[in-house]
Amino acid sequence: MAESIAGSFTFELLSDKIKESGKQYDTDKIRKAYELANSFHAGQKRDSGEDYITHPIAVSCILTELGMDTDTICAGLLHDVVEDTSCTLEDLTKQFGEGVALLVDGVTKLRKIPLATKEEQTAENVRKILLAMSEDIRVMIIKLSDRLHNMRTLKFRRDDKRRATALETMNIYAPIAHRLGISWIKEELEDLSFQFLDPFAYDEIERLMELRQADRIKLIESIKERITDRLSGDFATLPTIEGRVKSNYGIYKKVYRDGKEFDQIYDRYAVRIIVNTVNECYNVLGIIHDMFNPIPNRFKDYISTPKANMYQSLHTTVIGTEGVPFEVQIRTYEMHQTAEFGIAAHWKYKEGITSKSTRDDNRLAWVRQILESQQNTDDAEEIVRTIKSDLSPDEIFVFTPKGDMITLPKGATVIDFAYAIHTQVGHRMCGAKVDKKMVSLDCKVKTGQIVEIITTSNENHGPNRSWLQICRTNEARSKIRSWFKKERREENIFEGRNELEREFRRNYIRIPEGELADFLASDMRKHNCDTLDDFFAAIGYGGIQVSKLIQHLKDAYNRRMQERHEPTEEQIMLRAKEGLKSKSGVIVDGIGDCEIKFAQCCYPLPGDAIIGFVTRGHGISVHKQDCLNYLNQKDDENQRERWLPVRWADKEDTTQSSYFKATLDIVANDRIGLLADIASALAEIRIPMHEASARELKNGNANVVVTISVAGIEQLRSVINRLSKIPSVLSVDRCGK
Ligand code: MN
Repeated sequence: MAESIAGSFTFELLSDKIKESGKQYDTDKIRKAYELANSFHAGQKRDSGEDYITHPIAVSCILTELGMDTDTICAGLLHDVVEDTSCTLEDLTKQFGEGVALLVDGVTKLRKIPLATKEEQTAENVRKILLAMSEDIRVMIIKLSDRLHNMRTLKFRRDDKRRATALETMNIYAPIAHRLGISWIKEELEDLSFQFLDPFAYDEIERLMELRQADRIKLIESIKERITDRLSGDFATLPTIEGRVKSNYGIYKKVYRDGKEFDQIYDRYAVRIIVNTVNECYNVLGIIHDMFNPIPNRFKDYISTPKANMYQSLHTTVIGTEGVPFEVQIRTYEMHQTAEFGIAAHWKYKEGITSKSTRDDNRLAWVRQILESQQNTDDAEEIVRTIKSDLSPDEIFVFTPKGDMITLPKGATVIDFAYAIHTQVGHRMCGAKVDKKMVSLDCKVKTGQIVEIITTSNENHGPNRSWLQICRTNEARSKIRSWFKKERREENIFEGRNELEREFRRNYIRIPEGELADFLASDMRKHNCDTLDDFFAAIGYGGIQVSKLIQHLKDAYNRRMQERHEPTEEQIMLRAKEGLKSKSGVIVDGIGDCEIKFAQCCYPLPGDAIIGFVTRGHGISVHKQDCLNYLNQKDDENQRERWLPVRWADKEDTTQSSYFKATLDIVANDRIGLLADIASALAEIRIPMHEASARELKNGNANVVVTISVAGIEQLRSVINRLSKIPSVLSVDRCGK
């Protein structure tokens, strides 16, 4: 949007712009306005040394960019003639009609309201400005365009004038531009003012941004490319995708006012995606959240809840593969128009219609409201504050008992308030009153409340760790952390170690104490911790958030276990869960549930070491590892591939309580009632018997073979044990060895 600063503003340029706009303009009337202004300003110079007429032309160029109507563009060309030349209002009325004359008169009156110094920024003067706006909003739009060009050329003015103009712009005109929703003018006004108000900070931010400019462009381009690739599959007409960098003043506010680290400004980089319909906005949002990791609590839906200045968009912040967070703004073309041009956007669509639609009524209602509600105040700051405050529903304003105003984000508590006043007030706080009533420390403050902090004189008093969860501002949080960092090292180490161990347990990470420093080495380096205790302490005071480390620690742990060929506890759990599906009670790794049968030669039981054999078409047959068939065949070239490891599922993980058949070979001195004793012994220990056969051996002994069901090898052992105690029994053996 920025135009070149000086030298190029000729009437031809304006004419070109008007032609490019593709809109219907009364070009004869505009030319006539130019000729009149040119003749009256003849001989006058700007501080830059240029002819004065370049300024009104530049102002009208901005008005054309904003899509304003013929009268407004004429008034832009003529805005300084009544004040600075011998031309009168009557002349203008005669030649251009009342419409143009009234606009010029409005701008001339605005100019007479002095606001450059603190003393001049009185309630009366601010009110006059609002009043002029409420009569015809186009007056304010001309004024903003006038101010924008003056700010662009401010460097040519005298030093002492610069600061005053910059201050007035920052305090009055940028907030008004914001309130009217003309975001590009607001941003440019802020950036230009900031440059003159705090040149050192401005230079520093410029430098910081420049340092990484190459990286930045590369990053934004690669993000844009990835999004374009992904969206091209889903959208018939590809959405417009723009990359942008936060304005210098926007960064300044976050760094100097909110106390954020430069690297923590998540919306330093932003990508804007513009689509056709509201539905597409939400579709794109889903795709973006699928492509990148969203940062929790950073999603804002200004489509369903527009800002007070009608701004609509979806905002989310995500982390790219490069690990750099960036903001994504998603909106329709119409919303984009409103976001960039605000109230002026209206003229884009409805040529020549003044502010009579309901939308514009809403947009201007706040001007009337302020005028009404502030009728009796002499406090200009309060009026300006009101202009700003209902702009940002995310901010609240509370007061100290002495009447000083403290700005806090919405949801802030008395703790945030205390730290906003002074670090020591925060550390020594032991209670708080809101509107003279005692409240708990998690009490959220609201706009207009008077908050009093009760402190103790005890120098050793400090914040409570739980405050970290209660407070809302980074300022309070970082001050509390730094207190703990300094004052409570032992406690921090203890807390930090506990927290890390808790997270490890939750994520099935098990590292022997002796290997911990090695395992955490890269994280310790990254956070400048020389020892494990330093690292624990940093976690303890909140300098390191375990939740942010845990994913990559988990990955590192899994890699480490893989390298050592050890299954992680998590994998074991997963396998156990797979085992749930196993009806047979046997798990074949890497294969889900499959047909399992137990080899007739060895009858394996849970607890036996087992091996599987892939049969041709009958699933897997399971043998004991000491089965002779297995031992004989395992080295057979043709069969070797068919043997594969299998294992028993945990009993509670199988879907049915499985029993396994086992056959026992019993030898005893033959006697009457032997078989009956065996049967009753089994019944006594509740072992079902499926088959039994007995035969006489030549040496007078008897051989009894019984087939029973058992749950596993443990139970089989106790059965053998029990049967061995039956009188005259000589041996009990399991068949199928
Ligand atoms: Mn001017």
